[in-house]
Amino acid sequence: MDPGKCKTNNGKLLINSFKRMNRNQETEVLNQLKTIIDPDLGKDIVTCGFIKELKIDDAGHVSFTVELTTPACPIKEKFKTDCEKVVSSLSWVQTVNVNMSAAPRKSPLEVQSPGLQSVSNLLAVSSCKGGVGKSTLAINLAFSLAQTGAKIGIFDADIYGPSLPTIVQPQNTDLYQQDELIQPLDYHGVKLMSFGFIPKGPGSGAAIMRGPMVTQVINQLLTGTDWGELDYLVIDMPPGTGDIQLTLTQLIPLTAAIIVTTPQDLSFVDVVKGIQMFDKLKVPTVAVIENMSYFICSQCNVKHYPFGQGALAKLIEQYGFKNAFKIPIQTDISKLSDAGTPIVLEKPESTIARSIHTISGAVVREISKIKHGGLKRPQINFSGDQGFVITLPEGKKETLSPIILRQNCRCAVCIEEQTGKPLLDPETIPADIYPTGIRPMGNYAVAITWSDGHSSSIYPYDTLTELVDISCKETP
Ligand code: ADP
Repeated sequence: MDPGKCKTNNGKLLINSFKRMNRNQETEVLNQLKTIIDPDLGKDIVTCGFIKELKIDDAGHVSFTVELTTPACPIKEKFKTDCEKVVSSLSWVQTVNVNMSAAPRKSPLEVQSPGLQSVSNLLAVSSCKGGVGKSTLAINLAFSLAQTGAKIGIFDADIYGPSLPTIVQPQNTDLYQQDELIQPLDYHGVKLMSFGFIPKGPGSGAAIMRGPMVTQVINQLLTGTDWGELDYLVIDMPPGTGDIQLTLTQLIPLTAAIIVTTPQDLSFVDVVKGIQMFDKLKVPTVAVIENMSYFICSQCNVKHYPFGQGALAKLIEQYGFKNAFKIPIQTDISKLSDAGTPIVLEKPESTIARSIHTISGAVVREISKIKHGGLKRPQINFSGDQGFVITLPEGKKETLSPIILRQNCRCAVCIEEQTGKPLLDPETIPADIYPTGIRPMGNYAVAITWSDGHSSSIYPYDTLTELVDISCKETP
């Protein structure tokens, strides 16, 4: 026998049996990892697709990456120790090296603006009234998320009363443009933008702006800022649930919203309004924070409820909120905010900072659930023969005439802001009107530009299906 050939054959056999062994070992490791369940997604971490770059060497050294949905995952340390434990329990395993990472950042939508292209999540913090602590909490939540290793930005969308320049005071406040985008300011690695940072000349402040102008300015500032790669962009919304807030909710592709309130009964009604506003555009409200809920007397150590109690419990009951939190009145919060340092940075071990970490962790987990449960949106196309063709998530197709859609535009140009009276004369709409552009707007709405030159029509998907129903009834 040719000794060389024999050697080669043996070598091949050896390699094959190594490969087989490796494959068996791989299966064993994966089977072990399958016992670890992501509590939010309800599936094991292998099925979730979290395990990447699994390597096993001949000496029994195992290494792999666990790629989570977000770097801010509050249970990532637990995942790591669980992985180490289950894999090292295999008899042949010598060492286990687990590398924790997160999926690459990308915008959830076809965001047109280059500034928002690599922003994974846009998180609105909203309140129905001013002075409830919305900005304070938005900013602290943002820094709390940043402390988990996530990349964070804060956008102060409150043009009439910007708080970001007070609560956070970066040393360098010079703004400049690069490649036609404004470079945001930076404080402890968190990117910041606020109308309050923009130098203003006489007669160019917010006070002189009407509603539609305000939303335009906010949108320009948001989309014209170079946010770069961000896991979460926290948006401190203007207080209220009026046209400005509604239009902003339509314009900004929000992932989720948090509502901040105070305990009074009146605030309960306001929160419901807020939830309804976000609901209209199917932006999920992932948490409600009752701020200034109580205070603990420094003399007697007793909890006092100066604004009453029970509103939060009512909300939990009626809206089934799992993520409802209370933050007490605490002088440290206001003192530090006024001094330009959020409490989570200045006193990271304080009870308040820990409560804020709990809230940000809950928000992150809720968003992950929403995103990975699958977002179902209808597809909207236009054909010259059929008009709009709407393909519903379950596959059913509906058609809608362009004239009906154009007539039902609810923008500030077509509808009187205060009274809701139509400003558009339906007779003036050309019979052969057609869309010149269709694009998703936010998670649950579509923006349409028209051949008559009108460019600001935004329709929630629910409105489209309602209009389909109405037009079906009207058509004999
Ligand atoms: P909003 O954004 O709702 O108008 P701010 O965040 O500007 O409210 O807060 C209003 C004032 O209340 C600020 O002076 C802030 O420091 C203070 N504040 C907010 N939350 C608390 C709290 N839990 N305890 C004490 N002061 C607070």
